[in-house]
Amino acid sequence: MEAAADLSLIAYGDVVAGCERCALAVTRTQVVFGAGSPTAELMFVGEAPGFHEDKNGVPFVGAAGKLLGKLLEGIGLSRDEVYICNTVKCRPPGNRNPLPEELEACEPHLWRQIELVRPRLIATLGNFATKLLTGRPDGITQVHGRPQEVVLGGNAVALYPIFHPAAALYTPRMLQVLEEDFARIPQLLGRAAPTPVAAPQPAAEPAPQLADQLNLF
Ligand code: URA
Repeated sequence: MEAAADLSLIAYGDVVAGCERCALAVTRTQVVFGAGSPTAELMFVGEAPGFHEDKNGVPFVGAAGKLLGKLLEGIGLSRDEVYICNTVKCRPPGNRNPLPEELEACEPHLWRQIELVRPRLIATLGNFATKLLTGRPDGITQVHGRPQEVVLGGNAVALYPIFHPAAALYTPRMLQVLEEDFARIPQLLGRAAPTPVAAPQPAAEPAPQLADQLNLF
C-alpha cells in the first residue's frame, strides 16, 4: 500500500515540477513540491518556499525549518515520519507574501497532495495555510491550538492551526505558545506523549584526590 501511495505522490510531483499555472514559474529555481512520508498521519502546510528551499527543492530547510525539526524532535517525531509542504510550491520573489492569484493557481496541487497522503491531522503553519484550508478569514492568533474537524478530499481530517515557526524564531513568547501547541500533537494523533527527557545533570565532580586536597592548603 505504501509503495502505491509513494509512487502516486512521486508521479504527481513529477507533473508539478513543470507547472506553469502562475507567474512564479518564471522566477523560481525549481518547484518545491513536498517532503516526507507519503503515508504520514501528520501533515504540515506552510506558506511558501524561501531562498534555501528554492535552491534545494525541499521545504523548510532554512532557519524556520530547523526550528520545525527541533519541535518535531521534542514530540518524538522526525521529518521522515511526517509530510511537509506549502500552500504555494514556488518561491515568491524576495520572499514576499503569496498573491491571491498564486494561492488560487496552486491550490489544486495541495488538495491532490492531501488526497494522496490522507493525513489524519494537518497542522497549518501561520495565516496563509490556516485561511486557505479552513476557508475562513480568522487569523492564526485567534484560532491557533484549536483543532477543527473537516472533510478534505473525501476524508475526515483534523485541521490544527499553529503559529508559523518563522514567527517564533525571534519572539520567545510566540515560541512558548508554539511549543505548547506542538505538545498537544501526540494526543491529537491518539498517541501517548513522549516521556520528557530528563534535563542533563552537571557531571559529578570527581572526588578530590588526597594529593589535590593537600594542594588546596
Ligand atoms: N517557510 C515556509 O512557509 N515554507 C518553507 O518551506 C520555508 C519557510
